[in-house]
Amino acid sequence: MPTHFDAIIIGAGQAGPSLAGRLTGAGRTIAYIERKLFGGTCVNTGCTPTKAMVASAYVAQKTRTAAEYGVQAPGPVSVDMKAIKARKDRIVLASRTGLEDYVRKMPNCTVFNGHARFESPKEVRVGSDLLSGDQIFINVGGRAVIPSFPGVNEIPYLTNVSILELETLPRHLVVIGGSYVGLEFAQIFRRFGCEVTVIEKSSRLVSREDEDVSASIRTFLEKEGIRVRTSAECIHFRREANDIAAGVSCEDDPSESIGSHVLLAAGRQPNTDDLDLDKAGIAQDERGFITVDDQLRTNVPGIWALGDCNGRGAFTHTAYNDFEIVAAGLLDNDPRRVTDRIPCYALYTDPPLGRVGLTEDAVRKSGRPALIGTRAMTRVSRAIEKGETEGFIKVLVDAKTNEILGASILGTGGDEAIHCIIDTMYAKAPYTNILRAVHIHPTVSELLPTVFGDLNPLT
Ligand SMILES: Cc1cc2nc3c(=O)[nH]c(=O)nc-3n(C[C@H](O)[C@H](O)[C@H](O)COP(=O)(O)OP(=O)(O)OC[C@H]3O[C@@H](n4cnc5c(N)ncnc54)[C@H](O)[C@@H]3O)c2cc1C
Repeated sequence: MPTHFDAIIIGAGQAGPSLAGRLTGAGRTIAYIERKLFGGTCVNTGCTPTKAMVASAYVAQKTRTAAEYGVQAPGPVSVDMKAIKARKDRIVLASRTGLEDYVRKMPNCTVFNGHARFESPKEVRVGSDLLSGDQIFINVGGRAVIPSFPGVNEIPYLTNVSILELETLPRHLVVIGGSYVGLEFAQIFRRFGCEVTVIEKSSRLVSREDEDVSASIRTFLEKEGIRVRTSAECIHFRREANDIAAGVSCEDDPSESIGSHVLLAAGRQPNTDDLDLDKAGIAQDERGFITVDDQLRTNVPGIWALGDCNGRGAFTHTAYNDFEIVAAGLLDNDPRRVTDRIPCYALYTDPPLGRVGLTEDAVRKSGRPALIGTRAMTRVSRAIEKGETEGFIKVLVDAKTNEILGASILGTGGDEAIHCIIDTMYAKAPYTNILRAVHIHPTVSELLPTVFGDLNPLT
């Protein structure tokens, strides 16, 4: 006989724990199943550790360029990987422990450590325990794709999980994938002092962004000494003594990149292949993402999918918003929807890219009449004062309605300044609201009224 709960939550990522809090607060009993580490990817192998290491890398780079600020740094910069890792581990542990304590001490919540698999639409097995629930919430996240490149199984590759365990510096890190995850690691390790090569199959880095954004990011990464190889076809590997040779061409091309370490950062896939979803009849798309409606219900009544595993977002803030949508629908009689969400995210290179809404390319493709405003960071006082003038601001506006369509802020503080635009878009206010606002001097946000004050037709 299964042990019965009002609800079962599978995976302690970014949506489930808060949902457990709301459900138990409403008097429901919960079985919480986590197979590994509380906090999932973000806390343990994603956002938190990488941003801790981005901070160490920033300090290394600032020390390297200290003389430009009139500050004397004693000799060449070197890093202590063990100390960097220890700092990162402390930050991760504090976050994980805080979350785990929150769930374990939750009244009416029973934690099961182990791998969950469906037995039927109402039953889940974890080890020797069979559990049943009136409602089941799947929050199992995703993992790095291991592409079937020739030779990949003959080399000791790294992923976002194992690279975070390094205690010595790679001599030469070859990063496969020039997108969000790959570029953050590339710059981190370059700033730590490694030789770094980025290999990307598209013709440009972060190819979902506009071409000018990709080009600017490539320029500042190359300026720091990162080698970028785009349009890589037929990526393949072979052992070369103690090193790894990464080939980028189908031809017999001598220009292999010989690295001491290879990081695979070529995309993410959902953790849905080992859940026995078929036993519950839960539908997936061709890439394994669980199919959900606008309120994150699967095709099976009483089962929801939240976070990266539903393919409707790939960020911590989208996973958390999934929790808000489900909780609002179930407990607050508030029909929030995924399609009410405005896409926004940041890339944490230095300088970072803050993004919201449509790209310029997407606006062009939509064919709607639009206005565009841009400003180089070399014209932003705060950037000049900080000595961080790489990048630019770009905003797009609907020419008929004055609605803001999207923005990219590639530059110092771009991950924060973008929120002026995000909030204006959520308020459905016209861009003229920002135009008339008085922002604090000297900030990057201060320039936004100026950029919106100098719009031109998008031709
Ligand atoms: C290197 C890197 C950097 C990132 N940086 C950022 C960033 O700066 N900002 C941002 O917003 N996002 C970032 N992300 C993305 C972010 O980490 C994810 O979007 C977020 O963690 C998704 O949360 P989730 O709740 O869907 O799943 P996860 O956080 O992945 O949690 C899923 C949990 O489910 C558990 N689980 C899986 N299967 C089972 C099973 N069968 N039984 C029991 N438990 C199971 C897992 O162990 C895990 O704990 C980054 C990702 C990576 C890889």
